[in-house]
Amino acid sequence: MLFPFIFWGSLELYENTDALAVVRALRPDEPITLLRPHAATRAARFFVEKFQGKSLYAVKANPSPALLELLWNAGITHFDVASLGEVRLVNKFLPDAKLCFMHPVKSERAISQAYHNHGVRTFSLDSRDELEKIVRATNGATDLELCVRIRVSSEHAKLSLASKFGADPSEVADLLVATRQVADALGICFHVGSQAMTPAAFSEAMEHVRAAIVQASVTVDIVDVGGGFPSVYPGMEPPPLESYFDVIHNAFEDLPISYSAELWCEPGRALCAEYASLLVRVEKRRGNELYINDGAYGSLFDAAHVGWRFPVQLQRSDTSIGTQMAEFSFYGPTCDDMDHMVGPFVLPDDIQAGDYIEVGMLGAYGCAMRTEFNGFGETETVVVEDEPMATLYSRSAANDIGVTNRHALVSKK
Ligand SMILES: *Cc1c(COP(=O)(O)O)cnc(C)c1O
Repeated sequence: MLFPFIFWGSLELYENTDALAVVRALRPDEPITLLRPHAATRAARFFVEKFQGKSLYAVKANPSPALLELLWNAGITHFDVASLGEVRLVNKFLPDAKLCFMHPVKSERAISQAYHNHGVRTFSLDSRDELEKIVRATNGATDLELCVRIRVSSEHAKLSLASKFGADPSEVADLLVATRQVADALGICFHVGSQAMTPAAFSEAMEHVRAAIVQASVTVDIVDVGGGFPSVYPGMEPPPLESYFDVIHNAFEDLPISYSAELWCEPGRALCAEYASLLVRVEKRRGNELYINDGAYGSLFDAAHVGWRFPVQLQRSDTSIGTQMAEFSFYGPTCDDMDHMVGPFVLPDDIQAGDYIEVGMLGAYGCAMRTEFNGFGETETVVVEDEPMATLYSRSAANDIGVTNRHALVSKK
């Protein structure tokens, strides 16, 4: 028997907890977020030990203070923040963290406050206007690290980040020269798009970096390859992360830059996707449509709006789960037709109202996007100790980096 107790608004259960234990102990009426601290720690250790440079955590992927602290304790010291709100948040919980303000379009007030009140020295930009704004807002500071964001293709990524930001190739050289004149350290950064399915995304982007450096003939101190490192989802199984690192390390070695230049990356998804899953209840079945108690306006934004297929598993406390599987779509709890997730989500054919489903891999861009639309959106969190539904941090990778936590080495069911 498990006895839950309330701890700072989150529930903690004793020993060996997994999703099914939570169903048995609580039979929750509301969706529950299941947290796997060991998975986030493992991901962070992997980046810290295998990426030959600095790994900045992209806070927007999941800004939960508990996660920030876990990552810090695992060796992540730099944080990619995109707003003054994120600057304040990380500063509050991790006062010694180094913050890099990597949104290329900021308000002057945000830059000024970040610089003067929160010690931020690193900013990205993709235009002359933004460069002038940074110079004005910092009163012509001489200790700035400025990263020029260049536009690269998103063709290998599942979510494009190519149209909104990034200096055009025709403007990059001038912008690099102008930025060099006011920057203490000059960087070049890019983002290949989220969930990049092949390391080639990075080798191609690094060719643009090379061309820009050659064309501008400037000394570059930082090369920041951005985010885009993948996680695993149904139908989206990327090659091992090491192969991404190899491609990046090799391309970095070949750049015309000094030996003291630094290599940075900004993983969001890859560091936190495995950190959380969601336990939802089926409230109604209509044919192969399941009405569940979380959806497009909760943690399942991407499932609804970009058709992302998250892994699902029935968590039924008796053992009578049928073996016949079927494909389902989901409706979320709000009154909006758009609160619909096409999936398909593969589940036992005998699933019915009252059953619980665990939706996996929601640590990145899941919990972070929850709203309170229609009065829904409140969820408890429970720390569990089992494995996430999928992992990019395999047994061998875990052994390599000396993960001795027993939970890291058992695979799920
Ligand atoms: C969103 C974002 C990231 C993180 O991207 P992932 O695909 O989650 O790794 C990193 N850097 C910048 C500038 C971003 O906007």
